[in-house]
Amino acid sequence: MRQVRGSHAVTRRPFVASSFAAAASSAGFSSLDYPGALDAPLQSETPGGNKIYPGVYQIDSLFGGRNLFQYLFVGDNILLLDIGLAYTPERTIFPALRQLGIRPQQVNLAITTHADGDQQGGNDAIKRASPGTWLACGEADRAMVEDPRTLWDQRYNFLKRDYDVGIDPEPSPDVRKPRRMDACFAGGERIRLSNDWDLEVLHVPGHSHGHLALLDRDHGTAFVGDAIHGRGCPSASGAMALPVTYYYVDVYFPR
Ligand SMILES: [Zn+2]
Repeated sequence: MRQVRGSHAVTRRPFVASSFAAAASSAGFSSLDYPGALDAPLQSETPGGNKIYPGVYQIDSLFGGRNLFQYLFVGDNILLLDIGLAYTPERTIFPALRQLGIRPQQVNLAITTHADGDQQGGNDAIKRASPGTWLACGEADRAMVEDPRTLWDQRYNFLKRDYDVGIDPEPSPDVRKPRRMDACFAGGERIRLSNDWDLEVLHVPGHSHGHLALLDRDHGTAFVGDAIHGRGCPSASGAMALPVTYYYVDVYFPR
């Protein structure tokens, strides 16, 4: 089975404060001017997206020197998996849709795989362009995905009070506004794209409590976001950019 990974966001290792600081710094959220934003491409490198197999496209851009991916599933219904940063829909996702002859208003469902700035930051832009598109995420990540303030306090600065380790306390403009989810998944749901094409929603905690993956059983492919890291998160040039970022290691072990 192929595993298709998204790219990382700000990440941390809960038991090693120094690793967290290094990871947060290299992730592009660590300073007041947010270097990740400066690295943002003015337009998509591949505005049409890369076809992975019929009906499925990988949309790519760069953030902080790393690849940033979203996935588009085009059946009778259209699903976007991961949303990118605040500017990603307008700079990258909408141009990719345009190349495919799809209007933003035709996207039925936009799923954020997990709570991280570069997965959820574009939710507000999606909803502004297409109020009818349903936004969704994992139930256990809902509070952080809906509110950047909660994301910053609970995910990125959880060591701030006790160890003074973290990033700028104010949420980045790259993540921007709170935005309510229209639906949340707990795993086990099925999403019908066409009469003969379903995706299964999997709950895959570890990188975050509510992390979701989508399994396309018919095509032998799982879209796992940041749930599986291999040796770490590479930069776009192929060097290693971030360490493995399993926040809750115990859930990866069989019981
Ligand atoms: Zn992540």
